[in-house]
Amino acid sequence: MTDTAPMLGAYVSIPKEDLQGIFDALRRMGYTLVGPTLGEGAIIYDEIEGVDDLPIGWGDEQEAGTYRLRRRDDGAYFGYAVGPHSWKKYLYPPVMTLFSVERRNGTFKLAAPSEETPRYAFIGVRACELQAIAVQDRVFLGGPYQEPHYKARRQGAFILAVNCTEPGGTCFCASMRTGPRVGPGFDLALTELEEVFLVEVGSEVGRQVLAGLDWRPAGAFELQAARQAMAEAEQRMGRRMETSDLPNLLYQNLEHPRWDEVAQRCLSCTNCTQVCPTCFCSDVVEVSDLTGQKTGRVRVWDSCFSLEFSHVHGGNIRPATRSRYRQWLTHKLASWIDQFGVSGCVGCGRCITWCPVGIDITEEVNAIRTEGAK
Ligand code: SF4
Ligand code: SF4
Repeated sequence: MTDTAPMLGAYVSIPKEDLQGIFDALRRMGYTLVGPTLGEGAIIYDEIEGVDDLPIGWGDEQEAGTYRLRRRDDGAYFGYAVGPHSWKKYLYPPVMTLFSVERRNGTFKLAAPSEETPRYAFIGVRACELQAIAVQDRVFLGGPYQEPHYKARRQGAFILAVNCTEPGGTCFCASMRTGPRVGPGFDLALTELEEVFLVEVGSEVGRQVLAGLDWRPAGAFELQAARQAMAEAEQRMGRRMETSDLPNLLYQNLEHPRWDEVAQRCLSCTNCTQVCPTCFCSDVVEVSDLTGQKTGRVRVWDSCFSLEFSHVHGGNIRPATRSRYRQWLTHKLASWIDQFGVSGCVGCGRCITWCPVGIDITEEVNAIRTEGAK
């Protein structure tokens, strides 16, 4: 055991069983642990107690419209690619009561939600996901009006990132330059090696978490093994997307016949936007109780694929699936950059895996690029 904490930016090595020590330290510091676990036939994110809740020895197979869990032949802690959940469900919950109104004695009482802002420690944040959080930071915190609920949750969060050495069949973070190595913004970043975790210290809180644990400076062999694993992961990405001059390509092809073709397959089901870690559209609805005494104003995730979403001033500005799919894809890869200075796609591949008809954003871009593009 070491009483001192490693330096900021240091690479240290800890025995794999000491991951529980990190979890214990985080819990002592008041964090609620949220991490990968088996559930709903997939690897999802949920509250966890300790390492036993992790999907140790489990991996997955992902393709367009397909997800299957598979047993690995080793005991890898993080040997899977991202699943259907993303961290946005904790930072930007799918359903949130903004305020409620109660009728009492002939008058009204207005109340803000009373629950405390949770302090989450996110366990196993992948490179693409860290970038997705950075993208949502720009959306919710980057302008003159900041989203206060997101801000409070985000400021309290601890991020234990994990470098990707097991890209999935639909991943293309290397094309989007968001992975497989995690970028800045983490507190601690792990790379899973055979016997140990290589740990990079990214923040003062990360240092404090390691104080008292059995860490030692990482050796040259371990650093080389981690570099090699990530270089190999980059070569094994399931998908690639050519991004050169992409915004212009899309803007110049708004009438490309491919939009009609994809509209024949797209169900407008909204799945792609619900699983996407950067999509942020929402609606605000009133929910009243049956007695008519109480009502709540509730924010719920919405989607540019839903017909109601584009109903403006008595008419719908995107009545056809063709225009809704085109809006989604061109926003992700072109106008998002004009709006926020960064791509809205981080290459996580979720929209490909979880599309019920297997529509593949990389294939659609490729088709527009190669089939008679202007
Ligand atoms: S558009 Fe698809 S691949 Fe890109 S970030 Fe969203 S879900 Fe991931
Ligand atoms: S692209 Fe796929 S997931 Fe997205 S709305 Fe269409 S059918 Fe649903």
